[in-house]
Amino acid sequence: MIPYARQDIQKIDIDSAVRILQSDFITQGPVTPKFESAVAKKVHSKYSVAVNSATSALHIACLACGLKKGDILWTSPISFVASANCALYCQAKVDFVDIDARTYNMSPEALEIKFSKAKKQGKLPKVLIPVDFCGQPCEMESIRKLANEYGCKVIIDASHSLGGVYKGSPVGSNKYSDITVFSFHAIKIITTGEGGMAVTNNQILFNKMSLLRSHGIKKNINNKKWLYQQLDLGYNYRITDFQSAIGLSQLKRLDTYIDKRQTLAKRYGQLLSNLPIVSPFQHKDCISSWHLYVIQLKLETIKKSRQEVFDYMLNNNISVNVHYIPIHTQPYYQKLGFNYGDFKEAENYYNNVITIPLYPSLSDKEQDKVINTLSNILVGAK
Ligand SMILES: *Cc1c(COP(=O)(O)O)cnc(C)c1O
Repeated sequence: MIPYARQDIQKIDIDSAVRILQSDFITQGPVTPKFESAVAKKVHSKYSVAVNSATSALHIACLACGLKKGDILWTSPISFVASANCALYCQAKVDFVDIDARTYNMSPEALEIKFSKAKKQGKLPKVLIPVDFCGQPCEMESIRKLANEYGCKVIIDASHSLGGVYKGSPVGSNKYSDITVFSFHAIKIITTGEGGMAVTNNQILFNKMSLLRSHGIKKNINNKKWLYQQLDLGYNYRITDFQSAIGLSQLKRLDTYIDKRQTLAKRYGQLLSNLPIVSPFQHKDCISSWHLYVIQLKLETIKKSRQEVFDYMLNNNISVNVHYIPIHTQPYYQKLGFNYGDFKEAENYYNNVITIPLYPSLSDKEQDKVINTLSNILVGAK
């Protein structure tokens, strides 16, 4: 089976984890701060807080931005549910901004219209979470400008886009945002098994997130080693030191991973160009880290359903996927009052897409198999 995504764990990663497992500290030891600094340096950010998942990072990022009951958060409907759930964890309300039909990211035009309506209704959001879908950075300059105009904080959900670049700056540099969140879940760009990180240039946000990660407790008060004080209601969102060791080891291969993903994506672009599909559009301001390769099927030309294409690939041992089911159509979100028809571009997009395999260890031969199998079902065997 060729999976749609796959982690790359090498002996050097395993050895570094084992070394920590045999050391004095397996959690809250010296490696996590090293991992934090290494990521911060890599993405040109001042501060970083490593946690046990991007979901946790989004939660404490929202809390640090002051999101609370009665507030509103906006995100993209084409994302993993965690991008919206973080609002609900803070008892805030969530709403969505429709996507751009070309980039599949939050549309700055839709955002502008929504902001101006919300202002008239007195329903402006406190936090905005654009999502760098598939690894392509959002149009952050326009988004940040609007957010500033309407007094709204910006957290980028960069779970897909570690290693991406926007207008010459690495994703995570927070040139156009307050906080950026990365995921180190198994299938993401680099992995710690489960894990995440929030990076920021703002010391106040950094201090709040650090406190919230670990029970709201501050240690070593007045230089007394034993004296700790709980100052806020925090959580146990800590990552372990052996996970950080894996992350540190993986981070060394980030550039290689991105190169490999870009090469494979380019190859898909060339070899799929004659098929009745829409391959991913790349904005001129962005360099994608190519977390996912999503194609839109021109179903009217193909005269087959997405399900048929999906099943055919699966029956040929190619595990394709769909990213994502629009969040507002999930049963839980429907109970909150959302429904089909609310975000048309997101739904149009969703109806036609499949994600085909892309990961650094995908061989040319495997990629050829994906292309040939897809070609067979879309246009018939040659
Ligand atoms: C994976 C993912 C998350 C959640 O990451 P975890 O580390 O699994 O909590 C959030 N947002 C997006 C867009 C993701 O892809």
